[in-house]
Amino acid sequence: MSWQASFPTKVFFGRGVVQEQAMELQTLGSKALIVTGKGGSSRRNGALDDVCAALEKASIEWEIFDEVEANPSVGNVRRGSEIARSIKADFVIGVGGGSPIDAAKGIAIVRLNEISDEDLFNLNYGEVLPIVAVPTTAGTGTEVTSASILTSDKFQTKIGIRSTSLIPKIAYLDPAYTSQMPWQITADTAVDAYSHAIESYLSFKNTPLSTLFSEKALHILGRELKVIAQKKELKSKNRDALMYGSYLAGMAISLTGVSIPHAIGYSLTYFKGLSHGQANGIVLPAWLEFNVKKSQSPRITTALKASSLQSVDELHYLMEILCGKPPVSTVEERNLFVEQSLQSKNMYNNIVIPQKEDVIHIIEHCLG
Ligand code: NAP
Ligand code: ZN
Repeated sequence: MSWQASFPTKVFFGRGVVQEQAMELQTLGSKALIVTGKGGSSRRNGALDDVCAALEKASIEWEIFDEVEANPSVGNVRRGSEIARSIKADFVIGVGGGSPIDAAKGIAIVRLNEISDEDLFNLNYGEVLPIVAVPTTAGTGTEVTSASILTSDKFQTKIGIRSTSLIPKIAYLDPAYTSQMPWQITADTAVDAYSHAIESYLSFKNTPLSTLFSEKALHILGRELKVIAQKKELKSKNRDALMYGSYLAGMAISLTGVSIPHAIGYSLTYFKGLSHGQANGIVLPAWLEFNVKKSQSPRITTALKASSLQSVDELHYLMEILCGKPPVSTVEERNLFVEQSLQSKNMYNNIVIPQKEDVIHIIEHCLG
């Protein structure tokens, strides 16, 4: 047995941690760019005020870039980078869901490296600014991963940039920011976190340590998905569990990466406008069926068991409640999704490496 692990992020979990641990920020510099979403949710949920108060307390100057779109594009990152450069930011703080945090990671690169899209996606860059993450959704795990997922119109898809320099130095995880999150965003982001846990658990790159994280995340998130499906108001303990589960799933994918559902899901987001979690959730049951057919691994059964699910059918039923029906698509569109998803490296992380016919079958099955 051989494996590697490195967990460079200083994580603070709990209500009030941003202000309590404000002084931690002083280690990163004296000028920060706060990067947040354009919809204003971080103003409404209190995260932005807390971050500004923490910076004030730590005597750090800041500017706010509040134009991040969902599934941020490279252009969106370039706009933020201009501001970071003009104020000579020493570090960036992503406040919001995965989109603002991933945009902050992109800005951390482009602020110090004036590079082409190709160089950005091929990791041809030098130093990167330190990154702080303050998630306000419980889903992506980007607060501990080395990835920034950006939308490229040039390549008509979402592309993951991965390097250890993109792992945040500090992550403040305060579940209070998620307490007023609408039902559909709660469902989408929880399904994303669940996808991370199960894709990592069923990755051929799994290690004893990634399994510790993914199995625990499956336990927590499997239970919480069923609570969300009841459509009742969530309690604080559910919000805490979702943020913890999402963090654990993020730790798991930081060791293994994601796999087929994400590779296909990127096309569903780019071409059909589905949210990231919804796109994954629509693919999950067909992908699991594929694994059942093509793999002898006992992990498929244990993954379902850990998630408190009896069968793939039960997962399918749950995903329909949480993510809705698949979008209508034409044969031409489905062919395009096949070609695009085969380009994603994530496709080849699964316990069984799919052939093109398998990908066609999975896409037909989930969209048919
Ligand atoms: P998101 O795109 O960041 O946000 C979705 C929506 O939720 C936005 O309208 C946002 O509003 C709103 N929102 C955020 N927090 C809220 C809150 N507390 N209350 C109410 N509304 C809130 O969603 P996400 O699912 O967290 O992130 C998805 C992105 O992360 C995708 O681009 C995906 O590819 C990426 N991702 C990255 C990794 C990684 O390891 N790097 C892993 C998985 C996914 P605002 O407009 O105000 O922000
Ligand atoms: Zn994801």
